[in-house]
Amino acid sequence: MIETAEIEKVFANGNEWHHALKKVNIKIQENEFVAITGKSGSGKSTLLNLLCGIDKPFKGKISINGTEITNLSKRKLAKWRNSDIGIVFQSFHLLPSLTLLENVMLPMEFSPIKRNKKHRALELLRSVGLAEKVHMFPDYVSGGEKQRAAIARSLANDPPILFADEPTGNLDTENANHIMELFFRLIHEGKTIVMVTHDLELSKKTDRIIQMKDGMVIEDQGPLASIQGAGGS
Ligand code: ADP
Ligand code: MG
Repeated sequence: MIETAEIEKVFANGNEWHHALKKVNIKIQENEFVAITGKSGSGKSTLLNLLCGIDKPFKGKISINGTEITNLSKRKLAKWRNSDIGIVFQSFHLLPSLTLLENVMLPMEFSPIKRNKKHRALELLRSVGLAEKVHMFPDYVSGGEKQRAAIARSLANDPPILFADEPTGNLDTENANHIMELFFRLIHEGKTIVMVTHDLELSKKTDRIIQMKDGMVIEDQGPLASIQGAGGS
């Protein structure tokens, strides 16, 4: 479902090149809950941004659900991101001038699929425990509530895959556990989740840990990976 082939990413660093990703090959099956771990600077966010099409690789190919996203134009990529995947960030990225309800409705405004947007947004917010707060603005709810609203928004167009970059990084343990429970429920419903985290305890709760160091995958010992012989470095 998610497959990368020898992806590389370089950033200009003064007059030198910094290799943020070095020939990364990963394969993720449908309905897996995968944690990408590693120290700060190991390339986790860079990898996630490539998988989400937020950024483009220098070399290599990325196929997601049969779409070769590395070949898409900027415009097509933006459309694909809105309809085919959900993205959750550490700092929530909610629009402060919109209520939680309006934030969740927003991705549906850009979707060709006709839906009762308000009804669906209310249903999503209810499902993450925010039924009472739908008309509040992000600045007036807690961090945990902001992240739950952001997750509801990421599900607006019912994407099969969710990408999350340190989704619990700004939350206390209790709120982090709430988010994890939400993710488990989504996995149960058939979604695929790829979550970047440097929290070892959280990563151990997922199905599979992909560990990165210096832009490389140094460990990938998921059950599916070992069955396919794709594990190891
Ligand atoms: P992580 O998410 O694991 O902390 P990142 O993927 O953010 O790591 O960064 C990996 C490496 O790439 C780091 O050395 C970082 O400084 C560098 N890097 C990331 N983004 C940029 C950028 N936009 N410009 C230059 N260097 C970057
Ligand atoms: Mg990061």
